Amino acid sequence: MIDSKELFAKISGSSSDNEYFLPLPKGYQKGKTRYVIVMGTVMSGLGKGIFSSCLAKLLQDKGLKVAPIKLEGYLNIDSGTLNPFRHGEVFVLDDGMETDMDLGTYERMLDQNLSKLNFATSGQIYSSVLYKERHGDYLGRDVQMIPHVTGEVKLRLRELAMKTQADVVFVEIGGTVGDLENAFYIEAMRELAYEEGPHSCCYVALTYILEPSTLGEQKSKAAQLGIKQLLQLGVQPDIIACRCEHSVAEQARQKISVFGNVPFERVMSLHDSASVYSIPSMLRDSGIDFEVLRLLKIEDRIQLRHERKEWARWCDFMDKISKETRAVTIGITGKYTSVRDSYASILNALEHAGIHLGCKVNVKWIDTTDVIDANAGEYLKDVDGIIVPGGFGVRGMEGKIACVRYARENNLPYLGLCLGFQAAVIEFARNVCGLTEANSTEVEAECSEPVISVLPEQKKIEGLGGNMRLGGRDVEIKKDTLAWQLFGKETTVRLRFRHRYEVDPQYIKPLEDKGMTFSGKAPNQPIMQILELPNHAFFMGTQAHPELTSRPLRPQPMFVGFVAAAIKAAYKDESLKGPVAAAELVSKF
Ligand code: GLN
Repeated sequence: MIDSKELFAKISGSSSDNEYFLPLPKGYQKGKTRYVIVMGTVMSGLGKGIFSSCLAKLLQDKGLKVAPIKLEGYLNIDSGTLNPFRHGEVFVLDDGMETDMDLGTYERMLDQNLSKLNFATSGQIYSSVLYKERHGDYLGRDVQMIPHVTGEVKLRLRELAMKTQADVVFVEIGGTVGDLENAFYIEAMRELAYEEGPHSCCYVALTYILEPSTLGEQKSKAAQLGIKQLLQLGVQPDIIACRCEHSVAEQARQKISVFGNVPFERVMSLHDSASVYSIPSMLRDSGIDFEVLRLLKIEDRIQLRHERKEWARWCDFMDKISKETRAVTIGITGKYTSVRDSYASILNALEHAGIHLGCKVNVKWIDTTDVIDANAGEYLKDVDGIIVPGGFGVRGMEGKIACVRYARENNLPYLGLCLGFQAAVIEFARNVCGLTEANSTEVEAECSEPVISVLPEQKKIEGLGGNMRLGGRDVEIKKDTLAWQLFGKETTVRLRFRHRYEVDPQYIKPLEDKGMTFSGKAPNQPIMQILELPNHAFFMGTQAHPELTSRPLRPQPMFVGFVAAAIKAAYKDESLKGPVAAAELVSKF
């Protein structure tokens, strides 16, 4: 291979008299950052994000700085316009970027806030290339997939490396090797190792071993063909991780090793496991973390003492999973079909809270299309708490409001998330304040009591198409409220938002006069962000999406409080810890 130092010197700054093209961010230091590139073969849905985030966690535990990036094949600029029932939830980052749900997996596993640097789509790459073309940045060259589009991809990776000063950037390529959509990403990855030189990149291919029940044995042919496809694209995998229902037999691994040119010890079994939380230890046992360090020649950068401490914390958490002694059922208003991915963060947040409280959280999906006040009790009779999650549009809204009413009147723990916060305001306005026509202008544009509407300041930016409140914002917490206690008596907390409508300020006083407490609001603005009802087992709503910031080792306090209240309701045991005591317990973890 060409000496990459020489190559860098020769071609830094593109010129039209040679074939090299190497756009580099200013000050990029070759060799500081190494790259682990994760690609999928055979089929999608292998859990590349989970695999890559767990592997990144193992390196992070060793004291290395890691930065993940997901390269999406689709042409959308971000995930904001994607239907969550088709593509999974839209995960909003603190800087407001609307991304794929995999970014949630990375944030949770690495306990790290990510930004738009960690997410690229083909749409972003192409539009940046086209923008540069119009601005004459390509110095008279014909603009091509190679080197310009692939150059843009590498530029994004190097920018991430530079800005984060990461030891290792984890690149996850969306889709499957062989897709037309991601072919240029794979070519860019091939070029990356050529430019960065030996030991700069570690290619990991995730593949799938079939186990047809009619044969009763594992078949590796599809996996072999998948790897072959990658080799045809000029990428030699360094590690092959075999997804399979059961542990992959030695013989299948041997075959893949031979066909894939990969030493046997680097062909590992990544069989199904009961919980994602056990994957880090599965990877650790396979020794893949040290294989990666050796391949990248960065063994000297690790701190084993740091690892011992971090691993002990993780093991403490794992121990709690196996010690769940209670179970509760939480109702979530959402249609069952393909909901798991569309509400991924909520399910995770419930799970985190449950694990810390020693309680298994089961979920019952409640389709609210036919729910009315008279039958809400039927739908909710076997749940110990209810969540109305975020949503857009009008479908099932009246049913959700009926569920809120049932929860309020029957002391059933309630957590309203975004749309669920708005439903709680509408229900209270109608049934407690007597504003029978109360509604949201999203549902009924011309309604006479628009308790939820678009604020004038936001209407102004409507024309620019940007009237969604997106991303992390500070929330001022009112002293002596439940929220204040749950958040450990903090007076400012940071939550993430993705919505258009708000409580109309003219209704704040009437709502408060009847007993609704707004315990969280935007600093210096009459924008209500958390509500609660005193004298209730647990009744809280937030305009934010607290589920997005729950982490395995740092469960989100509202979820902890809510699950603790549900446990109390389910076991009807007054000696059990209430929401506040439970949240205090967790914050000490
Ligand atoms: N549709 C509501 C709004 O735009 C709620 C949004 C949400 O739940 N994410 O304000």
